[in-house]
Amino acid sequence: MTLTTTKIWLSSPHMGENEQRYVKDAFDTNWVAPLGPNVNGFESSIENYLDNEVYVAALSSGTAAIHLGLVLLGVSEGDEVLCQSFTFSASANPICYLGAKPIFVDSEKDTWNISPELLKKAIEDRIKKGKKPKAIIAVHLYGMPYKVNEVKVIGEQYGIPVLEDSAEALGSTYAGVKCGSFGEIGILSFNGNKIITTSGGGALVTKNKDYKGKAVYLATQARDEAPHYQHSTVGYNYRMSNVLAGIGRGQMEVLDHRVAARRSNFEYYKQHLGHIKEIEFLEEMPDMYSNRWLTCILTPSVQIRENIRFTLNEVDIESRPLWKPMHLQPVFEKCDRYVDGTSEELFERGLCLPSGSNLKKGDLDRVIEVINTIMTK
Ligand SMILES: *Cc1c(COP(=O)(O)O)cnc(C)c1O
Repeated sequence: MTLTTTKIWLSSPHMGENEQRYVKDAFDTNWVAPLGPNVNGFESSIENYLDNEVYVAALSSGTAAIHLGLVLLGVSEGDEVLCQSFTFSASANPICYLGAKPIFVDSEKDTWNISPELLKKAIEDRIKKGKKPKAIIAVHLYGMPYKVNEVKVIGEQYGIPVLEDSAEALGSTYAGVKCGSFGEIGILSFNGNKIITTSGGGALVTKNKDYKGKAVYLATQARDEAPHYQHSTVGYNYRMSNVLAGIGRGQMEVLDHRVAARRSNFEYYKQHLGHIKEIEFLEEMPDMYSNRWLTCILTPSVQIRENIRFTLNEVDIESRPLWKPMHLQPVFEKCDRYVDGTSEELFERGLCLPSGSNLKKGDLDRVIEVINTIMTK
């Protein structure tokens, strides 16, 4: 007889109690469309949660939100956009949709996010070369806030707007204020692996009411006011479905629990692996509060990292290297970059551990045992 254990995923969907009720409402009232009471209700619940006088437009994905955000910031063909290199490709791809050029900026060691120093250097160099960047994309990676104030001050100093990629950071705060609400435009993602999910979805967040109106207009094919279909600009089909927004309303009711569960995963890993000198954890700096979307560790070398990853995989546990920096991606090989080796080293040594809010102590113990065995051999 074999002992059967279930697969442990990196980050899987975790439904609450009321998602199906909201979805059923959509069916019962026939609002099976990319608008309706769930879309409005989901938007209000995010606005209330972020609590920083923001307007929210629910969209089909976080990627769509970045795309529309860049359109609203006036990015167009030939423009340059500075983008954190250490991130998921969806932060950078929309720059290319617009025919603009991503310029990548490396991370700093203490938050793993965009280095204010390199950002400043990049801006000055681009200006010297004859072109002021049109926007800055900064990312709260793995839920850890970037240095919001420093980046904001630099943006203001040079008159360059910041697009805040908060896809991984719903529930995180910086100086007590919720992430997602800091940028000229912020974005959220509700993909299946994120802290809460609508199966797929995203949102654009802004303090500028006009931006919200324009985002919804652009996301619904840019229809001008007229009885017939009239268009004066290129539109997109990016609005969120009222069915999926129903899932989102249910998920917002349990968001605080999801954050608490992921933070306690981190604490548990640290408590049981923290004694291993060769393993490092990403710590919060003063004023920062991470939702701990994924718990990540740094190992001494790529060989040890791979040994851990393969061994976990053999016992049906999913883990994954940290994001491969954009400036190392073949698709972006021709793009200019301002790098100092930080993200390359994180990519080599880092591993994301199973971090779902639905994991049990026994699941975490299985992960811990594998790592302990390898590291204390
Ligand atoms: C998930 C993610 C996105 C994209 O969001 P989707 O909803 O999957 O399109 C963008 N940026 C980062 C950092 C992400 O992790």
